[in-house]
Amino acid sequence: MASYRNQPISISELGKISLFKGIEPDSLIDLLADCPVICLEKDEILIAQGAANCNCYLILSGSLQIHLDSLENLAVSTLDAGESVGEISLLDGQLASAHVVCSEACQALVVAEDVFWSLVNSFHVFCRHLLFLMISRLRSSNMSISESFKKQREYQLTSTTDELTGLYNRRWLKEMLERQMQRSQGEGAPLALLMIDGDHFKRVNDQYGHNIGDQVLQALGATMLDWVRPTDLVARYGGEEFVIVLPGTDLVGARVVAERMRKMIAEARTASTLGELLPVVTVSIGVALMEEADTMDELIGRADAALYLAKEKGRNRVEG
Ligand code: GH3
Ligand code: MG
Ligand code: MG
Repeated sequence: MASYRNQPISISELGKISLFKGIEPDSLIDLLADCPVICLEKDEILIAQGAANCNCYLILSGSLQIHLDSLENLAVSTLDAGESVGEISLLDGQLASAHVVCSEACQALVVAEDVFWSLVNSFHVFCRHLLFLMISRLRSSNMSISESFKKQREYQLTSTTDELTGLYNRRWLKEMLERQMQRSQGEGAPLALLMIDGDHFKRVNDQYGHNIGDQVLQALGATMLDWVRPTDLVARYGGEEFVIVLPGTDLVGARVVAERMRKMIAEARTASTLGELLPVVTVSIGVALMEEADTMDELIGRADAALYLAKEKGRNRVEG
């Protein structure tokens, strides 16, 4: 529990408070005569978020940390000797907007609401310091918001893309395919889906190692991206399996795209990161056309069945 210090605030302590910079300490002594100095232990809570607060605290020694929402959350900032806390709820009359906790033992001058407003009314320079303080708090909270937007964007990106190939991942594909199917069905427009699987990919890994296998997968993804229209969706569906969604394309058109893709992949010569040629791989492709009232699983299931047939018939071919 906070205890009161017997000694009142000294002139030299007043001289170190940022809000009083430029004010003669002597001229403050009378106004602050009744303000007590409290002593707090490490980990003691000075202000609890959501509680009423009717004091501004001027920190004389030690340091305090600001936590938002929960004390479990990392501190958003630290306040040291010379700084102040609590002034926001005095200014707007609202409940405390954050938890303020001692990160080490502290001493603080307790400035009650009426004394605070007397300071505002008596000293222009005090008001200027307050304005500056508010702007600093605003800037730092804007910076935190920008940071968290940036993080959010990063999370969104990593949750929708595949790390190895940079293509969209299965999760994203399922979301987009669902929407795209609804749109196409609503418009009565065709939509085709290609399910593509690397042939004997296990052998590539066995023969050349996993690292080369990874590079082949990256090259496959890049070739696919090169050969589709901007409106087509390319995703890595799983290990060495890819899906391409072709909105506005009928079965004949989809077969043409699939055959061209199969040929491009079989003929591609891509260099590894060490400059050597990557092993040539082929792919088998299953093509399916969306039918009226098709569900996503039905459409994918038919493309999968066509892919299975392509494997059965000897691989490096298009079926469906
Ligand atoms: P099939 O022609 O019948 O498709 O034969 P396959 O060897 O491609 O099929 P299988 O499903 O038996 O093996 C798939 C292989 O793909 C096994 C696995 O090691 C490899 N693979 C899956 N994901 C990755 C990956 O991220 N990197 C690498 N290097 N290999 C992968
Ligand atoms: Mg395979
Ligand atoms: Mg496979």
